[in-house]
Amino acid sequence: MTQPLVDPFQRAITYLRLSVTDRCDFRCVYCMSENMTFLPKKELLTLEELDRLCSAFIGLGVEKLRITGGEPLVRRDILTFFDGMSRHLESGALKELTLTTNGSQLERFADQLYAAGVRRVNVSLDTLDEQKFADITRWGRLPQVLRGIDAAQRAGLRVKINTVALKGFNEDELFTLAEWCASRDMDLTFIEVMPMGDIGNEDRLGQYWALSDLRARLAEQYTLTDLAERTGGPARYVRLEETGQKIGFITPLTHNFCESCNRVRITCTGEIYTCLGQEGHCDLRKPLRASQDDAVLEDAIRAAISLKPRGHDFDYSRQDVAGRVSRHMSHTGG
Ligand code: SAM
Ligand code: SF4
Repeated sequence: MTQPLVDPFQRAITYLRLSVTDRCDFRCVYCMSENMTFLPKKELLTLEELDRLCSAFIGLGVEKLRITGGEPLVRRDILTFFDGMSRHLESGALKELTLTTNGSQLERFADQLYAAGVRRVNVSLDTLDEQKFADITRWGRLPQVLRGIDAAQRAGLRVKINTVALKGFNEDELFTLAEWCASRDMDLTFIEVMPMGDIGNEDRLGQYWALSDLRARLAEQYTLTDLAERTGGPARYVRLEETGQKIGFITPLTHNFCESCNRVRITCTGEIYTCLGQEGHCDLRKPLRASQDDAVLEDAIRAAISLKPRGHDFDYSRQDVAGRVSRHMSHTGG
């Protein structure tokens, strides 16, 4: 029996987030600059390499796999990869195969994702106003995303909406968003904006809207009950008693989740980041390409996990964005 992955702080690694491309059909202002330079295609792991890598992790005890990017659904033939992963769902080794998407391609792919065994998707959506949507995503169009969400629900996928809380941008839509999600039976999670990557002239501190404030505003209108649910990540959940819906808060800037962290991230070039908030990473592409023998790859994975740090260093509290990491969110995947 293979030893499962456990890091030096006795945290079992059961969750892998994999970025399959750094490219995207949107240019969200908090995520990318308008003129992003993307990686040459040859740098990217091939679909076969992505399969081998994920299969190795699943063999070592990973039970949940989230596909992200960039925009995962703009990677050519990515459905082949999802189809391949369905064998691990069928064997029972993988418990959940899911993705985070901007929704632009869901209209095309929702049925195929369901057929591959995907049951839940996270769709990122920061506003329900068409003009504001075009402004924040630069290249995105709201009606296309709404059609994608419709298609996902019709296909039988459970949809969760992820909204980045942005000061002066969607503060006034808090209740509209919550009510819209409740009316469509979708959970809603708010994310605090993180200091990642050079995004041009955008002002990080100006964008930052503390979720403690957002939560207090929600409590003015609804009765909030804390839920014990934990995912091993930075999310905390409440139930709104009046609607019964679940609302999540992702506050990666507080240290309250590192001790139970169960996840690692892999970029589309095969770098493994064992902490979202630290620069430290190891290369898995080299061992992957060096040999067809998975023992080499497994040794490299174990070596990387043995370096997983205790926690991260993000801190906005001193009116400067300390602990900033230079890579973009689209590089490691959100
Ligand atoms: N393109 C897909 C999407 O937008 O859902 C997947 C990748 S995107 C990088 C994943 C998530 O990261 C999205 O919900 C996005 O809003 C969030 N995100 C991107 N940059 C961020 C930042 N600087 N701070 C907080 N969240 C960010
Ligand atoms: Fe693309 Fe997602 Fe980044 Fe927006 S947040 S630019 S949709 S990768």
